[in-house]
Amino acid sequence: MKIIEIYSEAKSPVFSFEFFPPKTVEGETKLKATIGELKKLNPGFVSVTYGAGGSTRDKTIEICTEIQTVYSIPSMCHFTCVGASKEEIKSILKSVENRGIHNIIALRGDPPKGEGKFTPPPSGFSNATELVEFIRQEKFSFCVAAGCYPEKHPDSPTLESDTHYLKQKVSAGVDILVTQLFFSNKVFVNFLERARNAGITSPILPGIMPITSYSQIQRFKEMADCEIPLDFINDLERVKDNPSEFMRVSLSYTIAQCRELLSMSPGIHFYTLNQSTATMEIMKALQK
Ligand SMILES: Cc1cc2nc3c(=O)[nH]c(=O)nc-3n(C[C@H](O)[C@H](O)[C@H](O)COP(=O)(O)OP(=O)(O)OC[C@H]3O[C@@H](n4cnc5c(N)ncnc54)[C@H](O)[C@@H]3O)c2cc1C
Repeated sequence: MKIIEIYSEAKSPVFSFEFFPPKTVEGETKLKATIGELKKLNPGFVSVTYGAGGSTRDKTIEICTEIQTVYSIPSMCHFTCVGASKEEIKSILKSVENRGIHNIIALRGDPPKGEGKFTPPPSGFSNATELVEFIRQEKFSFCVAAGCYPEKHPDSPTLESDTHYLKQKVSAGVDILVTQLFFSNKVFVNFLERARNAGITSPILPGIMPITSYSQIQRFKEMADCEIPLDFINDLERVKDNPSEFMRVSLSYTIAQCRELLSMSPGIHFYTLNQSTATMEIMKALQK
């Protein structure tokens, strides 16, 4: 089923989960257990990431297919422009479509580590907008999602330029937007206002990643270039040597953040890192 239809038919908030393709057999076993657990929460859909440089391409497609056939959950395949020509992209998209996957999140992808600037592959695309245009021109029938950045994409010089290009991307044929992770709802509120003022009307799903260990704080800040409110960091710092207290403090913050977000968005997309515990706890509280 197409995600956009899931949203338009939903009578209550739609929750969705992101996974990544594991590299080991143990990781695969764990992912299956996680999907089995999170299926109990009746997700609207789940998504599977596309490794840097297209490194997990076949695995991503395989897991998306399995999620639909074995677990009966609609899947969304992440897809990037990295390392592929137009012709290669066309053939990969055909194979995704042929497997009955109806949803794709069309992304530019990041440059390889150490390269500051994104260089388009020969006969490939320079940004996600070109990929979205191509998907529409070639008449693929996907529901097309795209990424967006409440605190602006790191390559963007200003919030205004980021909003301008986001509007272009949506106009090229995007049905739904999923945000980069963020921890401050004020940032999301400001972003929503900018997007709506720019004429972007598509649903915008907040992407939320619970912090489950102290070391993740710095990692998430760097990975997503996002602000983590100082009070929250201080609260986590106080309990950093007590794992159960750490989880309690962290998840209370995320639960409160999600409750507020549900008053302004049609659902929440959780970045699960292939773990079920934190997401289960948050969802239990939200569904009370
Ligand atoms: C929800 C989500 C899921 C993701 N999943 C993955 C994944 O599975 N695998 C992975 O490798 N990465 C993933 N990423 C990361 C993403 O690939 C990077 O953030 C990448 O740097 C940008 O991708 P994009 O599609 O947002 O790029 P774009 O929309 O192309 O934007 C990239 C930059 O270019 C600018 N820009 C856009 N169009 C133009 C133009 N015409 N002229 C000048 N500048 C322009 C934008 O403002 C922005 O600064 C994900 C990100 C998000 C938010």
